Amino acid sequence: MAPRSLVAGNWKMNGVKSSVSELEALIQMVNDGDKADCDVLICPPATLVDRFVGVADGSLVNIGAQDCHTNTSGAHTGDIAANMVADLGAGYIIVGHSERRADHGETSDLVNNKAEAVLTENLTAIICVGETEAERKAGDTLKVVVADQLANSVPESATPENTIIAYEPVWAIGTGLTPTVDDVAEVHTAIRAALVERFGDGVGNGFAILYGGSVKPTNAKELMAADNVNGALVGGASLKATDFNGIIDAYR
Ligand code: PEP
Repeated sequence: MAPRSLVAGNWKMNGVKSSVSELEALIQMVNDGDKADCDVLICPPATLVDRFVGVADGSLVNIGAQDCHTNTSGAHTGDIAANMVADLGAGYIIVGHSERRADHGETSDLVNNKAEAVLTENLTAIICVGETEAERKAGDTLKVVVADQLANSVPESATPENTIIAYEPVWAIGTGLTPTVDDVAEVHTAIRAALVERFGDGVGNGFAILYGGSVKPTNAKELMAADNVNGALVGGASLKATDFNGIIDAYR
């Protein structure tokens, strides 16, 4: 089955209680505007997940979290478990974002275990992969993204129903720089080929593969039309409802 597209917002460490007004505005645009042919997701900081789930209940906007621990409970100060996210009624958890790989030394093996924890709770894992500028310049993009990160971060139990891949070149995140559409298509097509090789034709072709890195209303339509791109993971431009809705427009 063809993947269902998703436009996902990652609020990162932004937002306080009053930020719920942006979610309310977004819900109004998504529910009352022209219907988009994609799912819509906002992943606020953990402090806001409960509140956002309540506000988004019954709307077309889904709510998720940005990270989780591999364990279900225990002595892990400051961490949250996937079952705690599930308990709040959120449906998705991002794992392996490049900021967590860089800031917290997360390896692909750890990301694999986190994704497994997400799937165990019957939530959807959004598994992020992406090369640094130095790796791209060295010609190592596909080696890093596909042969290393994708192969090692995606657990055996992944299916198109419970797992989404997000390709996010690190050098494009928050910088305003984006790869060319051809470059995006090349990496996405290589990711698709690896998924087909590993999981077989039917399953491998079913995974949604998001592009992330400086997506905005002005470039979304072009990027979303690239081969094997099934949506976007959006940082900065997801914080304002009008900007995020302008990206969702690519699917209207
Ligand atoms: C991200 O961090 O997932 C991201 C894509 O950020 P931005 O859209 O701001 O580049």
